[in-house]
Amino acid sequence: MSSFLERFPGFKIHEEIARTKLSVVYRAEDERTNRPAAVKLIDNDHHGRREIEMHRRVAQANPSGPVHVMRLLDTYVDGDYRWIALEYFDSTLESIDSSRLTPLALMSIGVDSAKGLVEMYRADVIDDDVKPGNIAFKAGSGRAAHLDLGCARLAGEVPVGFTQEFAAPEILSRKPSDTSPCYGWARSMEYLAFGGRDPGSHHLLSEAVPWVGRDFARLVNECRQTNQNRRPPVPALYEQMKQLVRSRRRCRRCNAIAFDDGVCVNCGT
Ligand SMILES: [Zn+2]
Repeated sequence: MSSFLERFPGFKIHEEIARTKLSVVYRAEDERTNRPAAVKLIDNDHHGRREIEMHRRVAQANPSGPVHVMRLLDTYVDGDYRWIALEYFDSTLESIDSSRLTPLALMSIGVDSAKGLVEMYRADVIDDDVKPGNIAFKAGSGRAAHLDLGCARLAGEVPVGFTQEFAAPEILSRKPSDTSPCYGWARSMEYLAFGGRDPGSHHLLSEAVPWVGRDFARLVNECRQTNQNRRPPVPALYEQMKQLVRSRRRCRRCNAIAFDDGVCVNCGT
């Protein structure tokens, strides 16, 4: 694909930062603004066109700009390929060292991601592929934002794609649901809380990860129900996450931030 470098007018392409079966992502610079961007090279097929359409719908439904869904800056068709330029990000939640996440960082990522799902929900957009690799993370600001809308669809439409490990059971059997993003969100939270390892089977996240507050663990558990109707709708997930983030406290012994009844990650009390 290197022969396609420098063919995206208006963008200076630097090194590759990520690669999947369907795309290559490069660090780039927007020559008009001199600001960094992430540019992605994908096939110019229905999959690529869908991704652009979903980004545009989300932008229309959030007139001051989505904050927790990566903004689409530009797009360009080059024969069988299509370039898309997105806001720059440093990494995804899959590539950060999640074993070193603090409780506050985990909760901030949780509320940011839930807000991103609300920004999509306003546009009737349902992402069936919510997973750590599709959530971008900006190291400087700590902001998390959803990244890849290639498997997003409109509410009621048949699922177009997913990742086995993170997708809700109804999506695996190609049945639409509006709460499938909540399931992917919950699986991503488990992945992060377990430091990227397989969480195995457990009743509540707080039983396996003592610094996770019980109320947060209950919300994650509700979102990973196999019955789609038992999960909270996307807006309710966001409202509950906001409440949980507000309920943070200082550890009485060492002053570190902790949540609800979670064990202090700093001093163990
Ligand atoms: Zn403490």
